[in-house]
Amino acid sequence: MSELTTRAGALDAADELAGVRKQFVLDEVVYLDGNSLGALPANVPGHVEDVVRRQWGELRIRSWDESGWWTAPERIGDRIAPLVGAAPGQIVVGDSTSVNVFKALVAAVRMADSAGAAGSAGVAGSAGSGRDEILVDATTFPTDGYIAESAARMTGRTLRPVTPAEVPGALSDRTAVVLLNHVDYRTGRLHDLPSLTAAVHAAGAVAVWDLCHSAGALPVGLDEHGVDLAVGCTYKYLNGGPGSPAYLYVRRELQDRFDSPLPGWNSHAEPFGMRPAFEPAAGALRGRVGTPDILSMLALEAALEVWDGVRIEAVRAKSLALTDFFLECVAAYVPEGRVESVTPVAHSERGSQVALRCDDAGDVMKRLIERGVVGDFRHPDVLRFGFTPLYVGFADVARAARVLGEVLR
Ligand SMILES: *Cc1c(COP(=O)(O)O)cnc(C)c1O
Repeated sequence: MSELTTRAGALDAADELAGVRKQFVLDEVVYLDGNSLGALPANVPGHVEDVVRRQWGELRIRSWDESGWWTAPERIGDRIAPLVGAAPGQIVVGDSTSVNVFKALVAAVRMADSAGAAGSAGVAGSAGSGRDEILVDATTFPTDGYIAESAARMTGRTLRPVTPAEVPGALSDRTAVVLLNHVDYRTGRLHDLPSLTAAVHAAGAVAVWDLCHSAGALPVGLDEHGVDLAVGCTYKYLNGGPGSPAYLYVRRELQDRFDSPLPGWNSHAEPFGMRPAFEPAAGALRGRVGTPDILSMLALEAALEVWDGVRIEAVRAKSLALTDFFLECVAAYVPEGRVESVTPVAHSERGSQVALRCDDAGDVMKRLIERGVVGDFRHPDVLRFGFTPLYVGFADVARAARVLGEVLR
């Protein structure tokens, strides 16, 4: 047995999260794609069956009330809240991330127009007042960029793509809103949310964060760092299932000024009043739109039970240990010069994935998958490996690197 295999065994034996794995449906495959689709928590199928057969099949319309369907978006939002450092009453679940990016961006521009953000000096006025720019992460996952472009066009703003590192220098009194990703989906780079948020606020602008690749993998601290608005998906590190609904965070002090571009009857103060005029509900409920997607939403609610008793700090510590160990095993097993990590070495700049640049990456990933190691390929030349601390162990990591070495030899 090699020294790395022995170490993997010792690390697994000392892992305080090792026991969580048995709450998931997994097999012999080394699954390193939880940053794309989290694995299935074992309690979900039974719960979904109950939702379908009993709640829908027997209680039918009564379930909106008796099974808590109507209030699911805010109830499940409160369940996600501690994982992203938010107090209750600030998150609603529903729609896709793409749709929530749209709601957040347009609402943020409207906030920037109505007053200065985050208690800053109060730069009042309309687009005419000078806040005519939206800054967006130039390296963003494409959907965020497409939606930002459309939101800018609709609100009469100019979209300026900049890298997160360029944001402090690009901010000015022309900046209305900044949309950033906490972790880059391609490289796995973790951006400095506290200091970037502070810089955005110092410029009097509104900070919108996309947490798709950080929520469930590391502490976010939304309340602590004064983030204004945030969105994220639930099917990556939160294991909610394919296409499970996303969420929207609206910081409590901003909720009265959250003017949704998609005001639906679910965000009305009195949804069953059937009034012709829209009057927004109080609080985070304003982020709702129409009838929630109950089957997906309640599958997500069951999936979130795996977090009971799990500390996000422990998840972060294990995530860093996993990615460190993977990089070490890759260096040991993969022939020199065949791959190059594009993921930062510094812990303060690393999310929960490792991205390796590699010739013929698409083909290499196919061969890895044939050998029972599942990561994914991102165009044009990146092998992406996601490490979900709830169910990935150190022996998995050693095996993945060893198989990668075999494939590349
Ligand atoms: C995964 C991901 C999305 C997904 O958006 P959907 O609307 O759920 O398809 C959006 N943005 C980022 C940054 C992502 O990582």
